[in-house]
Amino acid sequence: MFGWWREWKRSQLAEKPFPPEWMTYLDEHVPFVASMPEELRENFLTALKIFAWEKNFEGANGMEVTDEIRVVISAAAVRLILFLDHSHYDKIESIVVYPGHFRTPDFQDGAVYGVAHQYGSIVLSWESVLNGLKNPDDGHDTATHEFAHALDLTNGSFNGTPELESSGEYRRWTEVMSHHFLRLQGRKKPERKVMDMYGATNEAEFFAVATESFFEKPRQMKKHTPELYEALRDFYGWDTAAMENEA
Ligand SMILES: [Zn+2]
Repeated sequence: MFGWWREWKRSQLAEKPFPPEWMTYLDEHVPFVASMPEELRENFLTALKIFAWEKNFEGANGMEVTDEIRVVISAAAVRLILFLDHSHYDKIESIVVYPGHFRTPDFQDGAVYGVAHQYGSIVLSWESVLNGLKNPDDGHDTATHEFAHALDLTNGSFNGTPELESSGEYRRWTEVMSHHFLRLQGRKKPERKVMDMYGATNEAEFFAVATESFFEKPRQMKKHTPELYEALRDFYGWDTAAMENEA
C-alpha cells in the first residue's frame, strides 16, 4: 500500500469515535491504562483505534476473535509505539490468536505462548496475553514481548536492534545492549534483578525481555541498570519510571 494512502486511511480511523464498550474491556483486562498519565491517554486511545481497525486479527484452534480480544491486544501493541510512528508496525499483516498454548514448527520443543514471525504475523495465546497484562509490574508480558520482536524487525531482521535514527544512535545502542547482554549471560546480579534469564538466549530475546522490564519494572531497571534504562527510554520516547503505577 502506498504511504500516503495508508496515512489518509489512518487519519480517517482516528476521526471515528471511540466505541464506549471498548473502555470496559480496557478497565477489565488492561490495568496499565488506568495508571497512564491523563495527557498520554488520548493519544493512546487514538493509536489503539487505528491499530484495532487496521490490522487483521485471525482466530486459530476454534478461537473466535471478538472486539474484546482485538481491543486488549491492540492496547498492549500501541503502548510500545505511543511516541513512535505508527509505521513501526507496518510489517505486521495479521495477528493470530490461539485460545491457549500452541505449537509451531519453529519451536519443536514444546508449547510456546507467543511468536513474532519473520513474515508479518504475530501469534499469541489469549490466555497468556491476559495473564501478562493482569500483573502490570511482575516483568512478564507476552504481548509486549512479541510486539517488541515486531519492532526489532523494523531494522530488517531479528537482531535486537530496531530502526534507529542515526549512526551515533546505532553505535550507542550496540554498546549498551551488548554490555548488558553479556553481563546477563554471565548471570551478573544487577541484570538478573531486572530481567528474566530468557533474555540471555540471544540479542533478539534480550531486546524483547528488556522491553517487558522497561514497561513493567521501570524503576528497578533505572536503579540497577541505568544505562540500559536510558537507552530504552530514548528509543520508546517516554520515562516509564516517572509513572506512578509501580510499587
Ligand atoms: Zn521472544
